Amino acid sequence: MKKIGFIGLGIMGKPMSKNLLRAGYPLLIYDIVPAALDEIARAGAEKATSPKDVAAKTDVIITMLPNSPHVKEVVLGKNGIIEAAQPGSIIIDMSSIAPLVSREIAAKLAEKKIRMLDAPVSGGEPKAIDGTLSIMVGGSKADFDEFFPLLKLMGASVVLCGEIGAGNVTKLANQIVVAANIAAVSEALVLATKAGVNPDLVHQAIRGGLAGSTVMDAKAPMMMDRNFKPGFRINLHIKDLNNVLETARGIDVPTPLTDEVMAMMQSLKDEGMGDADHSALVRYYEKIAGIELQR
Ligand code: NAD
Repeated sequence: MKKIGFIGLGIMGKPMSKNLLRAGYPLLIYDIVPAALDEIARAGAEKATSPKDVAAKTDVIITMLPNSPHVKEVVLGKNGIIEAAQPGSIIIDMSSIAPLVSREIAAKLAEKKIRMLDAPVSGGEPKAIDGTLSIMVGGSKADFDEFFPLLKLMGASVVLCGEIGAGNVTKLANQIVVAANIAAVSEALVLATKAGVNPDLVHQAIRGGLAGSTVMDAKAPMMMDRNFKPGFRINLHIKDLNNVLETARGIDVPTPLTDEVMAMMQSLKDEGMGDADHSALVRYYEKIAGIELQR
């Protein structure tokens, strides 16, 4: 099987790379954190010394990095992929970054005939472990078709959303819906509690109707159990909403709901809760209502 490069071995990259190893792909890995490299090397991967080193030894490279500046640095920076990648090779960037940056990086790579797909994911660590992520892809149909089987090893659904950048536009849409949904669930359960109705019974009663959602089923129990272990950190959601706001301002799209939820998340970050799961948004409502959820 063809050797795959994998750069970025964090909460998501670790289980995703392990799934590729399990499927029999030889992996060449790189991360700036030695302990992360060691963990995946123990699972059978070969270590590289830089993104350039990865690109010198393989022509299919997956990146799973925090945000736009990290992807730019790894692809275009000093000792970056672009310094060694051959024409015809491909970078599949699975990080959630600004769509305009995906397009900018792809344009630079195209000058050297290096291909790119943007393929951010939704589903979090549990689905990364199970290989059941939702993967939203931007790029050419031919590249998508060629690498669909590889992506399918990490995702239950893999959908081509349009040209390069379309994957990250779709991810921004996803993050708007998730943020607003968590805020609505928080607002509803805090209201119910203060009005004297058990929030667990409210959840049970409404989850099968129109108000029910994957977000409600995942996050309402965490809110009631006071379990704010991430999951998906408030800091990362702020990063994604920043990308929403920047993108929206660039094309004159109003985003009143995102503006509100962003302010709530910022205030929680200011109080030192940036590393809590985004279900901790309920704390914002609890504080202003002077009540705490209990089952
Ligand atoms: P993470 O911070 O746990 O992992 C990022 C990894 O990238 C780290 O191991 C870090 O050392 C490495 N890294 C940073 N800069 C680097 C560089 N210059 N060279 C090499 N490695 C470098 O983040 P994560 O939770 O794995 O998320 C990765 C991406 O996936 C983010 O864009 C995030 O928004 C997105 N995402 C995360 C989740 C989630 O639930 N955690 C869900 C969906 C999407």
